[in-house]
Amino acid sequence: FSSVELTQHYLDRIQQLDPAYNSFITVTAEEALNQAKAADERIAQGDDSVLCGIPMAHKDIFCTDGVKTSCGSKMLDNFVPPYNATVVENFNRLGAVSLGKTNMDEFAMGSTNESSFYGAVKNPWDTSRVPGGSSGGSAAAVAALLTPAATATDTGGSIRQPASLCGVTGLKPTYGRVSRWGMIAFASSLDQGGPIARNAEDCAIMMQAMASFDKKDSTCMDHPIEDYSALLDKPLEGLRIGVPKEYFGEGLNSDVASTIQAAIKQFETMGATIKEITLPHNSLAVPAYYVIAPAECSANLSRFDGVRYGYRCENPADLMDLYKRSRSEGFGEEVKRRILVGTYALSAGYYDAYYSKAQKVRRLIKQDFMNAFEEVDVIMGPTATSTAFELGSLNTDPVSMYLEDIYTTATNLAGLPGISIPCGFVNGLPVGLQVTANYWREGQLLNLAHQYQ
Ligand code: GLN
Repeated sequence: FSSVELTQHYLDRIQQLDPAYNSFITVTAEEALNQAKAADERIAQGDDSVLCGIPMAHKDIFCTDGVKTSCGSKMLDNFVPPYNATVVENFNRLGAVSLGKTNMDEFAMGSTNESSFYGAVKNPWDTSRVPGGSSGGSAAAVAALLTPAATATDTGGSIRQPASLCGVTGLKPTYGRVSRWGMIAFASSLDQGGPIARNAEDCAIMMQAMASFDKKDSTCMDHPIEDYSALLDKPLEGLRIGVPKEYFGEGLNSDVASTIQAAIKQFETMGATIKEITLPHNSLAVPAYYVIAPAECSANLSRFDGVRYGYRCENPADLMDLYKRSRSEGFGEEVKRRILVGTYALSAGYYDAYYSKAQKVRRLIKQDFMNAFEEVDVIMGPTATSTAFELGSLNTDPVSMYLEDIYTTATNLAGLPGISIPCGFVNGLPVGLQVTANYWREGQLLNLAHQYQ
């Protein structure tokens, strides 16, 4: 069948099913069909690139030329970028078809997708439950077969945690592997784009398109890019798996724990060895993250001032009123909370006590991982503390929502790659196995995910 037929198939599914999930903010049906037509012509002329004509979707944090890019916020509800993010450009160049933009927590701040200005996303496995966040739209859309794959971003777990809660595969690459140019910044030293798809094979194809060296992002690294698909079939013989004892403590649902333990055990049958390790500073990851991420967000979000672009309040009395009201009316509660926390942490009298301290803890966390990688190749554990929880059960208590990120934030603080692989069900809801590897080992993560699946 043609790309036009395939694209139409997904557009029809989105139209029929997405009212129940709310996983898309914008569906670009006409543009998608035009892209599909162009892809069919390229294929007819012999283009055999694997993504040519394949439909996919972008998280609404990636700027798309001529298509609204809201970042889940009222602040950018009227923002139509005049350019594409490098990631979007990479997919366009290969002839992929974009179905539209997926829903997300406002400015990617959240773990439940309930902070979106466009309303919560519902988990396709049980629509009374959250899909996780912040890339919940991408994960839910893939899980509900509304798109074969989607781009996403991960600052403290936003690819891996929704992938876990929606029963799909999500890869957070090494910091610097994927260009952040045109990806709306939340916390610049932690943000990284990556794919969500149904399995490792599809993630490998997505990752091949996303990974690139980009001079326009000064933190993007010029490091050789592996052939991810070629690595999928490598046998796991001799793989050394570390399981941190800190990952199985208080707060982890016991059924999730036994599902994860059984999944890890299965790698033994594929020739891997399992060893208990320690990441002594893991419990400090959430506190350090929730100082560093808000600090960086308070600086990044200062650009939304009602002047340059985005929301502007009505009839401002003067410039100060314009700033104040545009920001008070344009940002949601969670975003405001983070700006306040971040501004406080960076202020003159408190900088050393909070920000500087958090940066020191960050180094200790990274050192824990480096010590562990002296002994083992990869680290395995749960992605999330539980399966998908009920909508509305956490969004009234920010601290308990932050604690949900206990397994994912350390990876970002260290800049390491991590993956969440579907590994079973508890009471009919999916569970994700998280695997963390050393820098630039995306290929290894995809390989072991493929062998497991
Ligand atoms: N849940 C985390 C937060 O709220 C992570 C979000 C993310 O990775 N974008 O900050």
